[in-house]
Amino acid sequence: MSKTILVLPGDGIGPEIMAEAVKVLARVDAQRGLGYALEYDDLGGAAYDRYGSPLADGTLDRARQADAVLLGAVGGPKWDAIEPALRPERGLLKIRSQLGLFANLRPAILYPQLAEASTLKADVVAGLDVLIVRELTGGIYFGAPRGRETVDGQRRAWDTLPYSEGEIARIARVGFDAARQRGRKLCSVDKANVLASSQLWREVVEEVAKDYPDVALSHMYVDNAAMQLVRAPKQFDVIVTDNMFGDILSDQASMLTGSIGMLPSASLDANNKGMYEPSHGSAPDIAGKGIANPLATILSVAMLLRYSFGEAAAADAIEQAVGKVLDQGLRTADICSEGTQQVGTAAMGDAVVAALG
Ligand code: NAD
Repeated sequence: MSKTILVLPGDGIGPEIMAEAVKVLARVDAQRGLGYALEYDDLGGAAYDRYGSPLADGTLDRARQADAVLLGAVGGPKWDAIEPALRPERGLLKIRSQLGLFANLRPAILYPQLAEASTLKADVVAGLDVLIVRELTGGIYFGAPRGRETVDGQRRAWDTLPYSEGEIARIARVGFDAARQRGRKLCSVDKANVLASSQLWREVVEEVAKDYPDVALSHMYVDNAAMQLVRAPKQFDVIVTDNMFGDILSDQASMLTGSIGMLPSASLDANNKGMYEPSHGSAPDIAGKGIANPLATILSVAMLLRYSFGEAAAADAIEQAVGKVLDQGLRTADICSEGTQQVGTAAMGDAVVAALG
């Protein structure tokens, strides 16, 4: 049976970058006879305008039925003044939690052609390709009890960092599976020298490792990982870590590349069904100008094919086509430098389609 992809272009530059991603998906589909069915709906501000809610029930149902969701970005000044519960970003948080997307995959890839975009020395980051697998629905951001009180005139507050072995094992498996599809190296990041939850984390990751003898597992404390990411980031293949550590390290890693318009992301559930989106927002400052970089969304299509549909060759083809286009010297404004040719959103999408052959 053909697979269904729910496309949610969203707000701001969302529809512009999504149009290019769909072009690329259509070409790969036609070349390989994949026969995917695309459905379209609204999320965020566009959904508020159309349905009066940033995530309509019908849209959520369609997302549940689809085999994967491809999202542009949501939000913008037009909806800044509406009541908080109806803001575009609420739609995004709700769809993630309702779909049970517990694994967040954020690659930090620096194409050698863009090494100058990083704040780090080119030889440290050129060719960087790290994947951070972050646990997304547990840990300290959701743990109870949490609270705040005033005792004897002193305010105090507390949070809780709980992890069950089931939660750790399922995210560890996502990390091992991803490493298997890449360089077969997994680094588990924790703070096991101090935290009880990290000690359990390390224990469970070791147990899961027995099912993956072909993947080289290492462990690193989070403070050292933060340091190593700027000292020698190319030592990493896949990093798996908890919600808070992953939040911090994935932002750090993505900024090593210096080009937010290039970075895709995936959020997966227990069956590898996922939602795929660029790491950046809706960029209202450049919306409607035809200059947004569509490559993060195009690379999100590659992740969708790789992780939800098991089409590694098709994913490789898209990633290689993006590399080819950069080799040709084509750049959108955000990644443009001297000696390269500036192109708009649609021309960049067309160039990737052409590079696919
Ligand atoms: P942003 O990522 O939208 O923009 C930050 C800067 O990067 C801007 O200067 C923008 O022009 C530029 N930029 C982003 N993507 C680009 C691209 N593809 N090509 C070229 N330049 C690009 O972040 P922001 O300005 O903080 O937020 C704008 C809106 O997006 C807000 O409403 C925010 O809530 C929302 N947002 C949504 C998501 C999401 O949908 N996942 C994520 C972050 C922010």
